[in-house]
Amino acid sequence: MNSQATFGKNKGLGRRGKLIPALVFALILSLVPGCAKRARLELFAMDTYMELTVYGNKAEEALAGAEYEIKDLDGKLSATDGSSELSRINLSNGEPVSVSSDTAEVIHNALIAAEPLRGALQLTLRPVSLAWGFTTGEYRIPAEEELEELLKLVDDGRIRVDVGSNTVALPEGMALDLGSVAKGYSCDIAAAILQKYNVSGFLLNMGSSTIMAWGKKPDGGRWRIAVRDPAGEGYAGVIETDGACVSTSGGRERFFTGEDGNTYCHILDPETGRPVDNGVLAVTVVTESGLWGDALSTALFVMGAEKAEELYNSADMSPERRRFEYLFIMEDGSLVLSPGMEELFTPLGRFAEGGAAQ
Ligand code: ADP
Ligand code: MG
Repeated sequence: MNSQATFGKNKGLGRRGKLIPALVFALILSLVPGCAKRARLELFAMDTYMELTVYGNKAEEALAGAEYEIKDLDGKLSATDGSSELSRINLSNGEPVSVSSDTAEVIHNALIAAEPLRGALQLTLRPVSLAWGFTTGEYRIPAEEELEELLKLVDDGRIRVDVGSNTVALPEGMALDLGSVAKGYSCDIAAAILQKYNVSGFLLNMGSSTIMAWGKKPDGGRWRIAVRDPAGEGYAGVIETDGACVSTSGGRERFFTGEDGNTYCHILDPETGRPVDNGVLAVTVVTESGLWGDALSTALFVMGAEKAEELYNSADMSPERRRFEYLFIMEDGSLVLSPGMEELFTPLGRFAEGGAAQ
């Protein structure tokens, strides 16, 4: 089983993967008896540890190609690296900026993914997130008036992205943060590269919050992806799949305790500019696409379980690529599952004992 618990954020190492080759810990190539070749790689990118496992005759070459792309995307999409393409956009003072097709595409695709998400996903939240100190670690609780002012800068409808000329324009004062979608997008790009090499299967763990399983597992079984218990050390359960992306967003991934004794998490409600505080501990979604899963898990965390159910049943969910299943882990210890998730998810530990409450 692939464990989500072995990965986590380590802010002390939050530098571009390209610049720190020493953090590429291992490339292990082995032969699984009687099966396809296996190549495995651990790397630090996008502020997290990733683990990529690939099966197939050209597993090693395929993996090297995927690694290159992930590091390249990390360099382009980082909001904290001043030389990234994203920073050039954020410092452009309203001028259009020429970027790579990747950067234009991830913004374009994220805006499309956000269309049915009722404003819950906003790439332009960065000024608000900075005010809370989430990107710098200098945490503080901004005053209500300050948040009101900053919220005037939050409006994804004002992002201009042209995927023909690969230009992005953002009104002065506004700034983008792609933290909600970058890992999912990178997962899709890595998957496409691996598939070009005709690999037989892979498991891409992009830092536990986005995990994609695809193709055949050498033992012929289904892929098993553990869902961490966000309130403890153990697991909430296991998702079994023939191939899918499993994406999780949680309030315990990054948070601080304010002077008022309350905890404040890194996912913000775009309506209030305040950290989400709606009784949800974490939400996990199963999707086909990495970008959609990453966007969706963040948005559902903001929206909560009731609105998630409405979205699940709504007509604007009809395109095939937008299908999803969800699992909410609530602060009161209850679980809320979509109908299809009940087939995929087996609860463990305290969740198995109490039973999964709908
Ligand atoms: P993780 O980074 O743990 O995978 P998410 O995919 O849920 O978590 O992304 C959370 C990040 O997205 C935050 O750290 C912040 O940079 C950004 N963010 C926070 N709130 C929102 C929001 N409502 N819409 C879009 N991005 C957000
Ligand atoms: Mg996300």
